[in-house]
Amino acid sequence: MIEIKCKTCGKTFFIYPSRIGKRRHCSLECKRNDKVLVNKKSCSHCGQVRGKNHFRERTDTRDGLASWCKICESQLNREIKARNKEKTRVNSKKYKRYRRKNDPSFVLNESIGNAIRKALKSNKSGRHWEKLVGYSLNDLISRLKKTVPKGYRFTDILTGNLEVDHIIPKSVFNYENSNHIDFKRCWALDNLQLLPKKENRLKWNNIGKSFQPSLLLGGNDNA
Ligand SMILES: [Zn+2]
Ligand SMILES: [Zn+2]
Repeated sequence: MIEIKCKTCGKTFFIYPSRIGKRRHCSLECKRNDKVLVNKKSCSHCGQVRGKNHFRERTDTRDGLASWCKICESQLNREIKARNKEKTRVNSKKYKRYRRKNDPSFVLNESIGNAIRKALKSNKSGRHWEKLVGYSLNDLISRLKKTVPKGYRFTDILTGNLEVDHIIPKSVFNYENSNHIDFKRCWALDNLQLLPKKENRLKWNNIGKSFQPSLLLGGNDNA
C-alpha cells in the first residue's frame, strides 16, 4: 500500500500501487467536489482524466457517461473487429476444405465454374456459370448421376476417380464467348458424362495431345 494525498481535502489515505494515477481522492464525495474534475472524468480503462465530451453518453450509468473514454472504446472495437475478421477467414477456409472433401455438389460447382472461366478466359466477367450454360447445378447433378459408370458411385468425383467428360471433346468447339452456339453445344447437358479417370486419360491419348485436358474434379485442395 502507498500513502497519497487527497486532491480535494488534502487528507492522506492508502492505495494499492496499481491504482496510482487512477485514484486521486479519499472518497467519492471528494472526487465529486474536485473543481478540476467538474467537467472532466477519468477513464476506468486508461486512467486518463479527460473532458466529459471524450466520453460517450449512456443512459444506463449513474453519471450518464460511458466509463471508458472514446479512445479506449474505439480501440476495443477495432480489436474485436480484427478478431472476428480473422475468425470468419479461418472458418471459411476450413469450411471450403471440408466441403471439398465431403460434398460432391460443392466440388462440381467449383470445378465447372473454374473450367468455364478458363474456357472463356476473360469473358466470364463475374457471371455465374449457371447463367451462362442455361441450366442449374441440380440439373447437372441429375444428368451426371445417370451417367455413373458400373462399379462407381457418384461420390467418386470427390477423390477424382470419376471425372466430368465432354462426349464431343471441348477442343472440337470453337467459341470466344458464352453466346456462341458452340459454347452452348460444348457445355450442353447431353454432352456431359462421368468417366473413370483411367478411361478419360485413355480417350485423350487416343485423340491426341493437341486437345485440351478434360475437366479435373476432386483431389485438389489448392483451388
Ligand atoms: Zn478527500
Ligand atoms: Zn481511456
